[in-house]
Amino acid sequence: MPLRSDWSAATCPIAHAADVLADPWVLVILRELFSGRSRFDELRQATGAADSVLSRRLRRLIEVGLIERRETGGYLLTDAGARALPILHAYARFTRAADPEGPWGLTILCARCAAPAEASDWCPSCGAPLDAWTTLWARRSMGGLPFALAVPAGEVVRAGAAVRAGAAVPAGAAVPAGEVVRAGAAVPAGAVPAADAPAHDSPRDPA
Ligand SMILES: [Zn+2]
Repeated sequence: MPLRSDWSAATCPIAHAADVLADPWVLVILRELFSGRSRFDELRQATGAADSVLSRRLRRLIEVGLIERRETGGYLLTDAGARALPILHAYARFTRAADPEGPWGLTILCARCAAPAEASDWCPSCGAPLDAWTTLWARRSMGGLPFALAVPAGEVVRAGAAVRAGAAVPAGAAVPAGEVVRAGAAVPAGAVPAADAPAHDSPRDPA
């Protein structure tokens, strides 16, 4: 059963993309996949989606080629899915512009120069394009440290150095403030002030 009216045949590229992406659940699922959460139970907890809601969106995202199942379980963004990143950034930018003093918990950073690069597809500081491989996020709900996004195979560019996406942070290693951590890596104990670390996000919690 379609989730809504079918716009898949639209020849307007905006309407065509909206057929898949104009759905809050899809957007927060993509947010969590970029953040390194890949398994069904992780996605369910982070989004607050009911099983049926999450299952239908994941099926749809696979159908349209934005994600794929991993052989080892869980879901991964495809290259096409990674191209949805500027759309998420546009939502964040819209929100911050409408309410600059809001309690927004997601910060977007350029991986090349480490400057905040809110919600655009290029870095206003160093002029480099921003994509899923050259962008860092910091989320209050995930400890506030910048992390490389979980992207299809490739290298994440960080402040002039290339960091292999998925390179593990050694277990128990101290991660100083400002250090980039692998998407989804555990934040060291004590690094997260309890008040800033809700147990999980909800669709209404953009942190
Ligand atoms: Zn930059």
